[in-house]
Amino acid sequence: MAKKPQKRIKHVPQRTCIGCRTVLAKRELVRLVRTAEGVQVDNTGKAAGRGAYVHNIRSCWEQALKGPINHALRTEITPADRQRLMEYIERLPEGDITEKGAESRDVIN
Ligand SMILES: [Zn+2]
Repeated sequence: MAKKPQKRIKHVPQRTCIGCRTVLAKRELVRLVRTAEGVQVDNTGKAAGRGAYVHNIRSCWEQALKGPINHALRTEITPADRQRLMEYIERLPEGDITEKGAESRDVIN
């Protein structure tokens, strides 16, 4: 009946980035969660709801927002969700994205 006493394997939880599909340690990823208020960044990593993980680099978020996010969260992100997430990713490092110069942006006033 003894539960295996020794041999503690250090278990590092791993998740797949929905942007680039790389499997990484969970702490290198940012969790997104689908809530009643829309798709949010889950800073605690523990929020209830369907979650998905994205690298903390901008290029992966941009990739994720093109479609994988909808599939991963089984929802369609709304323009408001997208706006919120874009604001979040603007604070992230650029990662390996290539500079495209001044992109035309939708200015919301
Ligand atoms: Zn990634």
